[in-house]
Amino acid sequence: MDVVKYRKHFAAVFVIALTTIFVYPVFSNSYSAYSNDERQIRNVIMLVPDGCSLGVQTTARWYRGGPLYLDTIQKGSVSTWAADSVITDSASAATAFATGHKTDDKFISVGPKATPVLTGFTPTAEPYVPLATVLEGAKLEGKATGLVATSTVSHATPACFGAHTPYRDQETEIAKQLVYQDIDVVFGGGFQNLIGKTETYTTSFGATWTGVRDDGQNLYQALLDRGYQFVDSESGLLALSSGKAWGLFATSFMHADINRQYFGATQPSLAEMTSKAIELLSQDKDGFFLLVEGSQVDWGDHYSDPVWAVTDFLAFDRAVGVAIDFAQKDGKTLVMAFPDHNTGGLTIGSNYQATNKIGHVYTSTTIEDVVNPLKCMKINAAGLTILLTGITDSNVIKAIFKEWWGLDITDGDIAAMKTGSTISNFIKVGDYISKTYTVFGYTTAGHAGDDVPLWAYGPMHNTPTGHFDNTDLAGIVAEALDFELADVGSRLYVKVSDVFKASEWELDLTDSKNPVLEINHGGKAATLPASKDLLTLVSTGGSTTYALEGIVVYCPVINEVYLPMEAVEMIG
Ligand SMILES: [Zn+2]
Repeated sequence: MDVVKYRKHFAAVFVIALTTIFVYPVFSNSYSAYSNDERQIRNVIMLVPDGCSLGVQTTARWYRGGPLYLDTIQKGSVSTWAADSVITDSASAATAFATGHKTDDKFISVGPKATPVLTGFTPTAEPYVPLATVLEGAKLEGKATGLVATSTVSHATPACFGAHTPYRDQETEIAKQLVYQDIDVVFGGGFQNLIGKTETYTTSFGATWTGVRDDGQNLYQALLDRGYQFVDSESGLLALSSGKAWGLFATSFMHADINRQYFGATQPSLAEMTSKAIELLSQDKDGFFLLVEGSQVDWGDHYSDPVWAVTDFLAFDRAVGVAIDFAQKDGKTLVMAFPDHNTGGLTIGSNYQATNKIGHVYTSTTIEDVVNPLKCMKINAAGLTILLTGITDSNVIKAIFKEWWGLDITDGDIAAMKTGSTISNFIKVGDYISKTYTVFGYTTAGHAGDDVPLWAYGPMHNTPTGHFDNTDLAGIVAEALDFELADVGSRLYVKVSDVFKASEWELDLTDSKNPVLEINHGGKAATLPASKDLLTLVSTGGSTTYALEGIVVYCPVINEVYLPMEAVEMIG
């Protein structure tokens, strides 16, 4: 049933894409919009397959045996370089398309270090300063906002839309900022970052999840107190019909799409999360901004595991189909999709054609050579090594490879993949099997610095076409939704030392994990906890706490605190 629907849908999209090509010039990298009295875009859906390339798209098309949703909206290419490297990481990449500024490796929407690394590049942002994001801008416009990912929701890509820190690995801090950003819909993995190390949560399906926080904060309770619905399963997700919601379906990452039916039966697909996010967010009459990340294409590409990358990319493509379907019906939605960077440098063709077991060279490569090894894999390499745990008997190992990957492996293969007496290292398995039994090549276990494809769909004048820098993409969203990112920055991130005298403020670090900004000005005393959107004004009659339109950000490296202009005005 699904497949039939998919094809019908594709035909409809293709007609529209053709119309666009014939009527408007294609090869321009300008993005000019519309007259202000005829605003055509109310919503933006940005979708990112992390660590992906044209090689993955091509392979996925062969694997699927037909065109992808993404093929119908192919529009251009994107440069991905970062402030401190020609090869970016996910944090610096997402900072670029969330804020319009290039930054350094591992930085989450804060300015790069003071010393530029790349010849001729001058940073456009001050070091470590929080940079306003398109999600924050959309929020100030009164729009609903959402984040969807299959990693933890505090992982680099989604983090860059709602958090500010130079340390992407501090996911507990990032989670705190996301909770207090008042994002309407957050779906993905990472429950462990909400509760303390000694706390547990029992899921609706009877699992016990333990927290990792060591700061005494219970963000799960904070979400409930702030009026969020919380769901932890596919059925819980599907039952949501309106309102604000967090859905965390795994305590850490969600399962790879190909493994979901075996290990994660309670977890929704990326398309289901995207569909529900759109259903909830589109109830806001002011419109919405949604970021969707297919987080694990990157992991398949890091670990030379083509079936992981391709099946997660196809899951991403189905989410794109959901977004296009909504945009077609709505008529006021811009859909933009692009990888944050290439990972792995996947090619169809490898340096191992003389030694692999395909048996012929590239000039006689068949579709079956490309597709069959992947089609026989019912699970990814990481999943396979779980099934191989503790098994030393070669015959049992061979049987598992036969059943789950359709491969007749030899004793030599087993010896090459073993670590000690068992096969336990899935990276070794992916690398060896790719070289030995597939036509695929990988040039790196890390990221690669080449351009990535741009896919887009929207009202005809408003679809970006051509080559863009990743920083341009944030500007396209801001222009489409009618705000200036610089204005959002001056409204949300005022440096405390610029507006209050040194004698009027201090950062209370008594509880070092929960710093509090204290301001005494004109007879008023105020406290503002870092990473939250709360302002408490203390007077002789007691104290009152207000919710602000943005969060307070403490930057330890430069020992500065940033707060919303709204708070400055309330303090006077
Ligand atoms: Zn990435």
